[in-house]
Order: sequence, then structure tokens, then C-alpha cells
Amino acid sequence: MSMNTQGRPTALVEASDMQEMKPVFESFSGHQGLRLDEPLIFELGSTDTTGVDVAEVDDFEMALGGLERSTEIGCPGLAEPDTVRHFTRLSRRNYGIDMGVFPLGSCTMKHNPRLNEKMARLPGFGDIHPLQPESTVQGALGLIEELSHWIMTITGMPAVAMSPKAGAHGELCGVMAIRAALEARGDAREVILCPESAHGTNPATAAFCGYKVKSIPGRENGRVDLEALRESLDDTVAAVMITNPNTCGLFETEVKEIADAIHAAGAFFYCDGANFNAIMGKARPGDLGVDAMHLNLHKTFSTPHGGGGPGSGPVVFSDALKDFAPLPYVKQTADGKRLHEWPEDGDKSLGRLTAFHGQMGMYVRALSYMMSHGSDGLKQASEDAVLNANYVLASLGDVMSASFEGPCMHEALFDDRFLKDTGVTTLDFAKAMIDEGYHPMTMYFPLVVHGAMLIEPTETESKYNMDQFIRSMRGLAETAKRKETERFEGAPYFAPWKRLDETQAARRPVLRFTEAAE
Ligand SMILES: *Cc1c(COP(=O)(O)O)cnc(C)c1O
Repeated sequence: MSMNTQGRPTALVEASDMQEMKPVFESFSGHQGLRLDEPLIFELGSTDTTGVDVAEVDDFEMALGGLERSTEIGCPGLAEPDTVRHFTRLSRRNYGIDMGVFPLGSCTMKHNPRLNEKMARLPGFGDIHPLQPESTVQGALGLIEELSHWIMTITGMPAVAMSPKAGAHGELCGVMAIRAALEARGDAREVILCPESAHGTNPATAAFCGYKVKSIPGRENGRVDLEALRESLDDTVAAVMITNPNTCGLFETEVKEIADAIHAAGAFFYCDGANFNAIMGKARPGDLGVDAMHLNLHKTFSTPHGGGGPGSGPVVFSDALKDFAPLPYVKQTADGKRLHEWPEDGDKSLGRLTAFHGQMGMYVRALSYMMSHGSDGLKQASEDAVLNANYVLASLGDVMSASFEGPCMHEALFDDRFLKDTGVTTLDFAKAMIDEGYHPMTMYFPLVVHGAMLIEPTETESKYNMDQFIRSMRGLAETAKRKETERFEGAPYFAPWKRLDETQAARRPVLRFTEAAE
């Protein structure tokens, strides 16, 4: 069998310099004990085999009116057990939230409760089709309404748009509503302000909507510089996009003053709510002067990231913006619930944002999470997330360099000052974490600190898990400081593949299988 050499290295991990990893011999199979080598499915199967045996049909007449495929489809055929083994082997090379601590900051890799999965698979939800008649989906529409109610209550906001498919899509929805509101009052503003520490999607959304993006500096303590913000605010500013808690893992303590300054300038306050899981049940954006804010159901409300299709990023709106929210939305009428899909006379809506109303599977999971926790449980989830992050910050503060004075919110931010003069970089450190059996934390974000390492343990990690994680991190930090760099230089030593060229993979992806030349 010829192995494909495009797009990925195909050789098994090379014997490294690390003594433990030197194989005593090469196996005949190419496997290394339970670490099984795995070719591509194209290399395993072939286009002239198939997993099913179907007898030839006599007198077969094609009924496709000439639309039948005339060329080979090119998909490899494989028997069921081989297909199952292929994907199972591949899955064992992956690392997921169900395997171990997943400390990616700003991403909130939450435990996905199994109860959510059970609820989402109930036939009335799982088998639903977006084009079903409204009379047959009254329960589903009712669930969307109920989830909306929970979201509005917990955020203290009077309206919510359920259709956005992700946080970034929610930002688009919010900024489009802001534009619609400004246009409705004949006010053509052209600038959106974002802090230096903003997530990349904030300036990208503003630019996508045709606004000029201006950056506002941060202060020494990792928060927005209120004075600098005031100086930048004038009648050209449409909105200010601020994340709270911010991407440094800190609460913007002057958020009320910030909101007042924004409103005094006639602008809108878009709050990036990606970090809402740190304040849920403790503070309501509606009390903080927010005009629009997205919630990432996959961050705060435990739905899986990339949950089997589009995600979900509902956007809450203040009174000033609620009339401009997008279609469609659920409406109660005399004949039951229906989707309000088309603008009617007098509608100020920004228009239709999505073809279908949303991601039913994510709605069911999020509501299941909310109802199983209750309002007190959601509050406790925030408290535990913040407690766990502070446990990490306090336990590593003496060996790593915390970027800002604590306490932090739900994530602990370190930078690379503790690696100064060691020859070890943030990237090396992250790769060495893979050898320790951990998915690395978020690296090099936020950009406001050098060589950032952003750690978010979330609320579900036990003390045992966190102590193990902290022991590894301390061990690595102390090893680096002793300038014992071998552990870092070739890391990861114990992973099937080493340092892949991620830039090439992103810039020049090879998306089509081609047979390697013999
Ligand atoms: C994750 C995140 C986003 C984008 O959300 P997606 O759901 O990934 O589109 C925006 N801002 C911040 C601060 C985030 O952490």
C-alpha cells in the first residue's frame, strides 16, 4: 500500500533524543503497542469495494431522467467493522474535554452534561425538520420561548434574538442592529472603538459592517482606560465593543462609567458576553448599561463546541435596540405560536439574519443545563469557575509570572517573563504540556501581554484534577528556569505527530486526496 504524503507527515514518531522514547525495535505492524498507526480511509478502502452486498436487479430502469452520475464517485468502500475501527483509532489520537483537563482560556471548554444529550435526542426535538408546518412544532417553539425567557431574566435585558449561530455571528447581529438604529435616526456614524485586548472577532465584525475601527488603550491594571475612552468619544462613534469580564480575565470595574460615557456621546455599548460564565447570576448586563450582547451557548451554557453543526450565539438587546432585532422570532398568536419570518408594515427589524430560526439541538442542551442547575446552581457555576481560576493563579503565581494583580475572574493570565533568558518560549512550554497529557492553554492571546498563557479551568474540575495539573505546570516552570531545555526543545515527544507546520496547513491546505506517485 502506498501512503499518501501530502498534507500530513505519515511516518510514525521518530525515535527522539529522550531516552524513554527510544523504541527497542521497530514493530512489524507499524503499531507501537496500543498506539496504532492509522492510514487515511482512502488508503484503507478502495473505490471498487463496498461494505454491502446488493444483488443485481433485473429489468432495472433509471428514473432520474438523465441526471444520473456518469463518473465514479471516488469514495472508498469499506466494511462496517473496518470503518468503525478506522474512526475509533483516529479518535484515540484526539484530545477532548472527556479525556482530561482542557485549559483553553477565552474558549470555555465546558463539560457537556450527558443529560443535555439525552434531552436533545428526544424524538420531538432530535427528528425535527426546519420546514415542518408550525402546527407540528408548537412544543419546539415553546422551548425557544422558554429559553429566551431564561436568557432575558439572567441578563436583565428586555429582548433576545435567538437566530445567530455563534458568538461572532452574534456580534454581526448586534452591530447590524446598531447600524439600523442609527440609520433610523438619520445619524451616519462611521467609527467603532475596541480595546487593545479585544478578541479578533470584535474589530473584524466592525470592519465587516463597514466601520472604521479605532483602538482604545488599556491601563496598567489590565482594564480599559476610561479617560482615553472619553477622549476618543465624539459624534462619529457608532459603538464601543467591550468584553466584560475582559480577555485578561478581569472584570471591568468602571463598566457603569464606561456605559454612561458611551451613551452621553450618543453611541451604543456592545458588550462581548463570551465570558458571561464568570458573572452569571452575580451581575446583569441590563444593570450595567449594555445595549447589545451575545452569549455563546457553547461557552456559558455547556453545549458542545461545534455541536454537530452550527453553534448558537443569542444576542440580548436593550430597549433602545430591541425594535431593530432580526427576523425570524417566535410570536404568540390566537392560533398558537408561529415564527414571525417576514417584515410587516412598521417593522424596524434589521431584516432576516438566517434562513432558519436556529440550532434546535443547542437550544435543548442549553435549556437542559439551565433547568438542571436552577438559578442558584447557575450562580454557583460562576462562583466555582472563578474560584478554580484563582486557585490556579495563586498556586502558580510564585513560579510563573501573572500578568495582572489578582484576584481574577474565570481565567488566569500569565505571560512569558518567567521564561526570560531560559531559551524556552511560550510555544515550547505549550508543547511540553502535551507530553504531560494536557491540551495546552490558550497561547499568545490576548495580545496585550508578551507570550500570553491564558488558563481557564472551568467550574467542573475537581481539586484532584487541578492539583495534578498544577504539579505539571510547576514542574515544567521549574525545569525551564533551571535551563534544562531538552524537555522543551523537541516537545511533544510522546505525541503521534510533533510540531506540524500550522501556517502552511492554514495557508495552503490540501483538501483533496491524490494518490502518491509510486
Ligand atoms: C469565543 C469568543 C468570541 C467568538 O465567539 P464564537 O462563538 O467562537 O464565534 C468572541 N469574543 C470572545 C472574547 C471570545 O472568547
